[in-house]
Amino acid sequence: MSTTKTDQEWREKLSPEQYAVLRGKGTEPPFTGRFVHTKDDGTYRCAACGAELFSSETKFDSGSGWPSFTEPKNSANVELHEDRSHGMVRTEVTCKSCGGHLGHVFDDGPGPAGKRFCINSCALDLDTSTQ
Ligand code: FE
Repeated sequence: MSTTKTDQEWREKLSPEQYAVLRGKGTEPPFTGRFVHTKDDGTYRCAACGAELFSSETKFDSGSGWPSFTEPKNSANVELHEDRSHGMVRTEVTCKSCGGHLGHVFDDGPGPAGKRFCINSCALDLDTSTQ
């Protein structure tokens, strides 16, 4: 699946905050997003294109102020990129389907793989009909 829209179409579809994160690679302020403390069961989908990204089963409280997951629901649905912006070397996480910026992944997570996918709430929608 490929979701290709023009910049103008993304501006019309997304809220200004979502546009700044998903298309502008921005970061929402910590502890401000609507899913930081959410424990509801479901599947977190891309807010831009609806792709299945994370399961609530892998969500954990990282204390970082952003929704955090130990792994993607399907690793084929995300892409990882080296990010050298802001004087740091980080690994950016994007939605494979629409190319939207989701957040970053770090190596200090609690699961067997030791990953912490640190994702902006506004880049996600929670679908409680599936998990
Ligand atoms: Fe997407």
